Amino acid sequence: MRTVILKVNREEPEIDRIRAAAEIIRKGGLVAFPTETVYGLGADALNPEAVARIYTAKNRPPDNPIIVHVASRDEACRLTEEVPANARKLMDTFWPGPLTLVLKASGLVPRITTGGLDTVAVRMPGLKVTLALIAESGAPIAAPSANLAGRPSPTTAEHVRQDLDGRIDLILDAGPTKVGVESTVVDLTVDPPQILRPGGVPYEELKSTLDRVELHPVVLAEREIPLVQARSPGMKHRHYAPNAKVIVVEGRMDAIVTKVQELADQHRKTGKSVGILATGETESRYRADSVRSLGSRRDLASAAKNLFKLLREFDEDKVDIIVAEAVPPEGLGLAVMNRLRKASGFNIIRAD
Ligand code: AMP
Ligand code: MG
Repeated sequence: MRTVILKVNREEPEIDRIRAAAEIIRKGGLVAFPTETVYGLGADALNPEAVARIYTAKNRPPDNPIIVHVASRDEACRLTEEVPANARKLMDTFWPGPLTLVLKASGLVPRITTGGLDTVAVRMPGLKVTLALIAESGAPIAAPSANLAGRPSPTTAEHVRQDLDGRIDLILDAGPTKVGVESTVVDLTVDPPQILRPGGVPYEELKSTLDRVELHPVVLAEREIPLVQARSPGMKHRHYAPNAKVIVVEGRMDAIVTKVQELADQHRKTGKSVGILATGETESRYRADSVRSLGSRRDLASAAKNLFKLLREFDEDKVDIIVAEAVPPEGLGLAVMNRLRKASGFNIIRAD
């Protein structure tokens, strides 16, 4: 299969290009497209054969459910059995935007889309070009991140090409994404509502909108938690990992810097090539084969935006090991730490 790459303006999308992409979705094909979070790999969410192609193209485990992207609230309501008051409130406050709601699925949604669950995850994305594609397709679009399963999520069309060239029909290229980590996933089928995955909408904002909301234990897990009841099976799969082995160092700032350099020196002595994932404040204090910065520790939104791109850049540097500084788990930092811990396979070292 030849994969076509088509440039498109994210704010004023060229309608002929959107129509070409929508035509592929309607015929059951696969289109990678930008959202405000990361690039998604889309198919008609109501067409089981089309959705099956997503799992094949990504090598995605079949029990990992896929988020369904809609262009309006009405469309979300058709896909769900009921929309409780707290879900409406979240839609009012955060849609369109990086927030996904897990609700009881209606009979319209094929089980392959929900990974066999009786719930569906829905989101209305905040980017004009994405909304235009969904509307023009005339169907909700099922889309996980447009990477091979287990790899860092793509924040540029080039990242998508690296993973999926020859495996999908089209990549719409609207430049780098704004948020850089995936949407926050909130399960509204339990009481109190639970955050299954931290993402673009911070926990703090959800707490100030809902009376009650809590973090599922996996969100900040320091090790693999066996999920007895697989409510969100996606949570159990290995994720976000570059080719290099990742080590995360957590603790007080100064202790982190000392420990990171110590680990880097140790591994370089054994002949390994080592990358350090630093921050603006600490970058100049390190010596390694490659030192890259997430940006200032005071700007965790920029850390989120840069994270996946930097993990891929370390692979281009061909480092064997990445030693990463932890950032504070506040605001978008919670999503960054969740991704880093998973990328490391929970290889976490405490510095103090
Ligand atoms: P991604 O691979 O980035 O699309 O991840 C989608 C995330 O949403 C995964 O963690 C899924 O487990 C979660 N998700 C999608 N659909 C559902 C659902 N119906 N119930 C619970 N979690 C879901
Ligand atoms: Mg993903």
